[in-house]
Amino acid sequence: MEIKMCDLIDQYRKIQPEVDDAISQVINNSAFINGPQINEFKASLEQYTGTKHVIPCANGTDALQLALMALDLQPGDEVIVPAFTYVAAAEAIGLLRLVPVMVDVDYHSFNITLGNIGKGLSPKTRAIIPVHLFGQSCPMEEIMNFAQKHRLFVVEDNAQAIGAYYTFSDGSKKQTGTIGHIGCTSFFPTKNLGCFGDGGALMTDDDILAERLRAMTVHGQIEKYCHEILGCNSRLDTLQAAILNVKIQHLDEYIQARQRAARIYSEGLKNIDGITLPEEMSYSTHVYHQYTLKVKDGMRNALKEHLLKQGIPSMIYYPLPLNKQNAFKNIVPTSEQLNVSTELAQSVLSLPMHTELSEEEQKHIITSIQTFFK
Ligand SMILES: *Cc1c(COP(=O)(O)O)cnc(C)c1O
Repeated sequence: MEIKMCDLIDQYRKIQPEVDDAISQVINNSAFINGPQINEFKASLEQYTGTKHVIPCANGTDALQLALMALDLQPGDEVIVPAFTYVAAAEAIGLLRLVPVMVDVDYHSFNITLGNIGKGLSPKTRAIIPVHLFGQSCPMEEIMNFAQKHRLFVVEDNAQAIGAYYTFSDGSKKQTGTIGHIGCTSFFPTKNLGCFGDGGALMTDDDILAERLRAMTVHGQIEKYCHEILGCNSRLDTLQAAILNVKIQHLDEYIQARQRAARIYSEGLKNIDGITLPEEMSYSTHVYHQYTLKVKDGMRNALKEHLLKQGIPSMIYYPLPLNKQNAFKNIVPTSEQLNVSTELAQSVLSLPMHTELSEEEQKHIITSIQTFFK
């Protein structure tokens, strides 16, 4: 038994004939850029997510940068982002000479809430980037109402939550990534819908934004050699689209496998005082990109060591809040203590989570954690 943090090879083996066939078709066609598989994938993802426009691009970080570029913000404009997350959103903001205003997150959901966002609001605020961390939605209805009131754009970072549903107070549901003005996602191999390299996409219901975004992925080009706006080169490879066309058909199964694994963890670990289990918010489904514990009393690193000795990998997502990263030293305006983010960075531990996790492996992981706290 070799437990992996994320198992891509066994997942591939189950769909190997379909994937190999899709790859070989691309090679035999040799339309490596903008082959027919791109439009096929675009249509599949539009249908899957219920969004009007999907714009494939090279990776999730580019998607975030393109989204901000399309909003026509001015240098110095402020964009609110969580401090406890992956670096990509704040990085895109900084690269465009916008100001990332890093706000704290909620201890229970790991996500930003209205309370956190309110503290970051200033007359220069132009946009908010909610990140649906670990596979669960931010409280989007409140965020959208707040954004409307203050005339802000909302760009969702949905890299970890593709396929999650947010439930509005009237009972209607929408997928994360389709609620804000623009949604961004990543097909990095370990994501819930991953390709075999880099890949990403933007989503929007807005026709004008969609047209700008599409042009921006190809040098701002509307017609060949006619550059209306500044863009970049950010395309999804045909090969990756072909693989995604196969894998998107399995996405619901993949999500269910993760949710099943999460239930087994939560059942097996529920009576351990030294840890806090991930909580599911009433307004969102959870697609468990990560299953993340909070370890009490400074025992996180010791637990990680203990698990490693039992052959169990685990990961710390994320060990340092973004406001403490050197890259942002000179551009982060807030001197506020982001207490929850700081505490989470010291206490979180993500357990192995993937579609191929066996009950036997999970039993071993659960027993090892129980033994540690005895
Ligand atoms: C993976 C990830 C990204 C970046 O995606 P890439 O495709 O690796 O560029 C952005 N935000 C979050 C929250 C992520 O997990």
